[in-house]
Amino acid sequence: MDILEKALTMLSKCPLCDHCLGRQFALLGYNIENKDRGKALKLSLTLQASALNSTKNAEGVKRLKVLAVNGFSREAQETLQHLKKRIPKKDQTKTCFLCESKFQLLDSLTHDALNAVANCEYTTFLVGIELPVAVEEREDEFKAAFDVSYGESIRHEFGRLLGKRIAELTDKTAEYKKPDIAVIINPFTERVRLQINPLFVAGRYRKLVRDIPQSKWFCSKCRGKGCEKCGGTGKLYPESVEDLVSKPLLEAAEGEKTAFHASGREDIDARMLGNGRPFVIEISKPKKRFLDLKKMEADVNTNAVDKVEVSGLRFTNKDAVRRLKKAESAQKEYRVLIEFENAISKEDLRLLEEKLSGALIKQQTPLRVLHRRADLTRERYIYEVKVKKGSLKRAEMHVRCQGGLYVKELVSGDEGRTMPNVSELLGNRAKPLKLDVLNVIMDDHVR
Ligand SMILES: [Zn+2]
Ligand SMILES: [Zn+2]
Repeated sequence: MDILEKALTMLSKCPLCDHCLGRQFALLGYNIENKDRGKALKLSLTLQASALNSTKNAEGVKRLKVLAVNGFSREAQETLQHLKKRIPKKDQTKTCFLCESKFQLLDSLTHDALNAVANCEYTTFLVGIELPVAVEEREDEFKAAFDVSYGESIRHEFGRLLGKRIAELTDKTAEYKKPDIAVIINPFTERVRLQINPLFVAGRYRKLVRDIPQSKWFCSKCRGKGCEKCGGTGKLYPESVEDLVSKPLLEAAEGEKTAFHASGREDIDARMLGNGRPFVIEISKPKKRFLDLKKMEADVNTNAVDKVEVSGLRFTNKDAVRRLKKAESAQKEYRVLIEFENAISKEDLRLLEEKLSGALIKQQTPLRVLHRRADLTRERYIYEVKVKKGSLKRAEMHVRCQGGLYVKELVSGDEGRTMPNVSELLGNRAKPLKLDVLNVIMDDHVR
């Protein structure tokens, strides 16, 4: 069927605005808006009808009426007026069969969307369209009935047009994969809501003291509600690395909450020194995204002075969290101060370096974490061990190993659950006194 004929058949059955008629022919012609396609079809049909009328064919006036009423065509209406033909009043109140004439609301919807995003900081956005189910079903049935094969969907046209307008008026970029915000617009209820995607900030932290856990540690008695044991705080430790680092960022971003992701964790009583441990903070629903990270770094460090120190803060994305988790087995460097039951000799220390450098350690889940971790045996490589003698019964051991090795148990032996171990190798009971993480080495630098 000829496209003009098809357009006329559609209009004879259903009232259609320029957008909705043009959209059924969206894949014809390039760089033409549906609105202009619809208008061009209606104009061409008006000319055809005029030509029929001039040959005294009654079909001409009949078609002009279809265009004037179901096509909302001003040109057809004026042509009829010129021919002294009237259009009944009741026919003039029709709305578009497909969009209920909601495409007329593009300006006010754009205005509402701009209002909704006005207090947000963002660079990229995406427009999402919410439609009543009935609207989409109606369009599907319409397309089937008229055998539409080069059309666009109503959802797509609304999304495209509103996205374009918002981009032009805000100077922001529409982005489909990872937008900062999604503006969800329902043209039928005229509701606009925002979905603000999280903000990710990466960096490294050093923990300079021995009594702060990495993450919030809820009180074991009340599980966070607050009780006598925890002094009403709900926390077993008043501060954590997570708290100290997250709080200033959460406040600056005016977000809802934060999640703290790190590449492994040190024990509460171990310090984290060297370059620090990589982490990513995820801030939910941030109203502000353009944070001055140099200033944030200074704020965190002032706030947590002598306890925790952050460096290299930078913006990142969700992928970085996955890379952090993957990097948990990255190389780590530890320093542990060991106390022995009996005196040690230089020969003992040489033996430790020789036996432990390059060794594969079989480690059953340590007894001290067995209550919260599955009991299984893991294998971890030690790349290098260096030992320095301290006093008669003390030594300082440097270990460079695969991440995930429990170093305290490497020293004590954990009742034979870690093999080989320092106590067993020397036949001299060894106890870890102080543990520091000196370095977290990541080949694939986390961005
Ligand atoms: Zn319409
Ligand atoms: Zn409590």
